[in-house]
Amino acid sequence: ATPTSIMVGMGRGAQMGIFFRRGEALQQFAETRVVAFDKTGTLTLGKPALTDLITAEGWERADVLAHIAAVEGHSEHPIAQALVAAAQAESLSLPKVEQFQAETGSGVWGVAGGRRVHIGADRYMRKLGIDAQRFSDDARRLADEGKTPIYAAVDGRLAAMLAVADPIKPTTSKAIAALHGLGLKVAMITGDDRRTAQAIARQLGIDEVVAEVLPEGKVAEVERLRSQHGALAFVGDGINDAPALAAADVGVAVGTGTDVAMEAADVVLMSGDLMGVPGALALSRATLRNIR
Ligand code: ADP
Ligand code: MG
Repeated sequence: ATPTSIMVGMGRGAQMGIFFRRGEALQQFAETRVVAFDKTGTLTLGKPALTDLITAEGWERADVLAHIAAVEGHSEHPIAQALVAAAQAESLSLPKVEQFQAETGSGVWGVAGGRRVHIGADRYMRKLGIDAQRFSDDARRLADEGKTPIYAAVDGRLAAMLAVADPIKPTTSKAIAALHGLGLKVAMITGDDRRTAQAIARQLGIDEVVAEVLPEGKVAEVERLRSQHGALAFVGDGINDAPALAAADVGVAVGTGTDVAMEAADVVLMSGDLMGVPGALALSRATLRNIR
């Protein structure tokens, strides 16, 4: 492409809220065969809320939630914010936290009011040797509704199963349909529960789901999808999306996300509206047509 047509294309993009950080990305985008999306904060708003809490026998809802919220108060994960907000909404007074640790990609633990509290995914409970079978029917049902099941244990014993739901952004479905219309494959890469991810993918018509991926595993999944389908664009918002954004042929950051993601990206969607992805692709194709 000539420098002039690239300049024109970048200017057009800017008017549409699509910011090309590198001119080459405008040329490369047209080659894309598969678009892989991060889920939380990219396909969804990244603002989960607590929807369900089922206590194990012998536990009282307020007591369990207070211990969970106390520990989650030390975590920055969106799920943690949802659980803290739920306790606040019920005006619970929280026990004092003496210790805290995050287990990246699986959960958190801490000591609250003198009791050891573990909160996280079912694989975290398995790792701790805590049997969560009794909640498996409920967890399946909630996951099939697109909610994320979370487990809580107190002093090494299962105390509750909770679910959080993160609303899908209003234009996500339309953006995916537009990508299909342009002939592309669409994938999702997430650390979230497999059933939950599959339910959301079904709702959105996403072709391929890669779930329960640890943050450091995203790059390997990007490379695998690329070797299978061809040139790949990755769309993400978080700090832990930065390596995948850099590894993709074109990295697209959501402008409502973290600075780290934007710095690793080739393209930034200023408003976070995913219609910018098919928009950028159409713009790239138009730019190449003009000069060929
Ligand atoms: P993602 O951002 O794609 O949801 P993460 O790697 O951040 O992926 O988290 C993966 C899973 O680990 C979550 O779905 C949840 O089950 C569990 N998890 C992580 N952090 C927390 C936390 N603070 N509280 C409870 N569960 C957590
Ligand atoms: Mg995210």
